[in-house]
Amino acid sequence: MPRKCSRIRRATEKVHLSRTKKRKNVFNPKTVETDKSSFDPSAKKFKMQKEILVPRDSSVEYRILNFITVFAALSNYVKCKSCDGEVKFETASPRGLGFKIIILCDKCEDRAINSSPFVKHSYEINRRFIFVMRVLGIGLKGAAKFCGLMDMPVFLTQKIYDLIIDNIYSCVKVATEKLFEKACAEEKDATSENQVDERSEELTVASDGTWKKRGFSSLHGVTSLIGYYTGKIIDIVVKSSYCKQCEPWKNKNNTEEYSKWYDDHKDICSANYNGSSGKMDVDSVIEMFRRSMEKYNVRYRNYIGDGDSETYSGILKAASDGEVEVVKLLERCVGNSTQNINERYNQLIWKMTPKIIPCGSKVVEVVAHIAAGMFNEGAISLLYFMNAMGISIGPAAHTYVEKADADRIMISNSRTHGNTHEGRMARRQSQLDLLEAADVD
Ligand SMILES: [Zn+2]
Ligand SMILES: [Zn+2]
Repeated sequence: MPRKCSRIRRATEKVHLSRTKKRKNVFNPKTVETDKSSFDPSAKKFKMQKEILVPRDSSVEYRILNFITVFAALSNYVKCKSCDGEVKFETASPRGLGFKIIILCDKCEDRAINSSPFVKHSYEINRRFIFVMRVLGIGLKGAAKFCGLMDMPVFLTQKIYDLIIDNIYSCVKVATEKLFEKACAEEKDATSENQVDERSEELTVASDGTWKKRGFSSLHGVTSLIGYYTGKIIDIVVKSSYCKQCEPWKNKNNTEEYSKWYDDHKDICSANYNGSSGKMDVDSVIEMFRRSMEKYNVRYRNYIGDGDSETYSGILKAASDGEVEVVKLLERCVGNSTQNINERYNQLIWKMTPKIIPCGSKVVEVVAHIAAGMFNEGAISLLYFMNAMGISIGPAAHTYVEKADADRIMISNSRTHGNTHEGRMARRQSQLDLLEAADVD
């Protein structure tokens, strides 16, 4: 039986081709989009580079088009290059937003074109779409709504979505760590410039915590440390008392069945905290103080906090117990510049994961890191994250972030603030306000 066989002949003479072998999906569609090994090399590559650079790939340009009408029209204009015959186009093997365009010719074998570039065996478009939706504050349900109303075929399942979020998280975290290192180096420089009598590896930091509560037991908290001179975030801790998989066990957590299950689960459990929000904040700050040497080779010697806060008194106690090596604790007054700046970071986080919408702790971790990157570096950080995820960035995305960042800096510089510390912080705050505003439009 020849493989080349007209579709019409097939239909009229009931000739069946055994095509299953050729058409068989060589990838497992259940796992391929979530393949962790397709995320790792790009994150590693991002981490290794000395200066952060995102290449401009001129081969990337997405468009939205009506596949049926455009490709039906196209087949009226084109002929098969091999046999000069008529060709038709069909879609096949959809995986998320990715699919294959099959070129059908009466005489030739089917040929397939991928609808988007691959990263290893996964369609780039899927991770790109989920990431961008997340930046806009939209999760899986919102993405499905978007695709449905746009007449785009069925989107991903929750399970695959969760796995992609996990993989995105590992890349985003690697990229953010690099940005924190950069911010820490800048803070060291600024410290030695501003305080000649102090050592540059002894920094002054302020902390702030923000959390989201759902019900009585679920709590997500993000605590950030901000360098005094640069107003940039140098470290964050995300804690959560919520785990989606633990949820069904809530009323059975004294049973033997549970302990058996938990034994296997504990390593992947996303709940890493059990306590009040105030205590969560103190513990997170102490955690960051303790790892400063290991992470950045610096000590946080001066701490600025709100005198009446639980965190401030918690640090005070930890310092007197010798748990952390804080030399000076400085009370900040209400309306202080670092406090306002911290507040902008908190707003950015909860905009990407609205407080009222229940979401897994992984999502909070992802957005806390994305928000920290945007907070420190502006819109360009979004390209860093995508680059670390293995996504090629085309001219349109580059142009967008360049313009967004240039506009913000131009406007905030035009509001003169002088070169005092308060002036610099006010300028930074105004830039962050504009980053916020740009997101709302
Ligand atoms: Zn042909
Ligand atoms: Zn759990």
